[in-house]
Amino acid sequence: MKRVLVTGGGGFIGSHLIEALLAKNYEVLCLDNFFTGRKGNIVHLLGDPRFEMIRHDVVEPIFLEVDQVYNLACPASPVHYQFNPVKTVKTNVMGAINMLGLAKRVKARILQASTSEVYGDPKVHPQKEDYWGHVNPVGMRSCYDEGKRVAETLMMDYHRSNKVDIRIVRIFNTYGPRMAFNDGRVVSNFVVQALKGQPLTIYGKGNQSRSFCYVSDMVAGLTAMMEQDEFIGPVNLGNPGEFTILELAEIIRELTGSKSEIVFNPLPPDDPVQRRPDIGLAREKLQWQPTVELKEGLQKTIEDFERRLREEDRP
Ligand code: UDP
Repeated sequence: MKRVLVTGGGGFIGSHLIEALLAKNYEVLCLDNFFTGRKGNIVHLLGDPRFEMIRHDVVEPIFLEVDQVYNLACPASPVHYQFNPVKTVKTNVMGAINMLGLAKRVKARILQASTSEVYGDPKVHPQKEDYWGHVNPVGMRSCYDEGKRVAETLMMDYHRSNKVDIRIVRIFNTYGPRMAFNDGRVVSNFVVQALKGQPLTIYGKGNQSRSFCYVSDMVAGLTAMMEQDEFIGPVNLGNPGEFTILELAEIIRELTGSKSEIVFNPLPPDDPVQRRPDIGLAREKLQWQPTVELKEGLQKTIEDFERRLREEDRP
């Protein structure tokens, strides 16, 4: 039986990944400091003898014996990663060093969750893996963007210098059940606002675009990358369907049947204007592509949010 470590396993993507790994009958260690991760995301797994939860911060070293490491630990929403930007840099840099050290010591394969943010506010569209990006090194988003870029650099250097068996994936916007209500990202904000009858807050004019990948597709991409022996990446994982934020607001209003109005708030600095992955490489190397359409995924997400909001209201 393989033993797998998932850092950030209490988070949104991490907890879905853990379920998929348990379904493959792996033993899973979940490591989280619960800054943005939540025990509620994994509490249903605690009775499973193949599952173990460790409260630990990846900024500190840890000694474990595992076959694979998914290094997902880091707040990923701008509001959360900007809350303590120095800590965000440390999480990405020290976290990658500690997990690479662990992988080197026990000869584990390690997959680094990188991000579409390595492309910054891209001047090339759609984004391919060989595009070096357009990142502001001194802006509000750079703690995350540059942190992840250094994490990629560390992965490549441990690979070249120490022969560590690495995988790098660049995750584009991902959504689905279990996103925190206060996550701060656009899908969760709009769904909560629509269900509560509050105004949908568009930042800027809403003509900026994003591509939204449903979480089960993302998890399938992560495991496909980890499970193959030929290709280390980096590889883009995301849904190539591109929508403006205004379109997204309208779709969510339609699917929830909400009468919420739309309001326009100031655009945060360095907010990328457009983003869409070129997933040709993932298709070729992993035979992977998303299968869940935006409306279908949003419908499932809305049902999950409705249920959780009802539970929250229960006396
Ligand atoms: N956004 C918005 N309203 C919100 C939250 C986000 O209009 O309530 C915008 C945000 O400015 C950005 C896009 O939606 O242009 C995606 O933002 P998110 O924080 O989800 O992810 P990221 O910017 O990291 O792609």
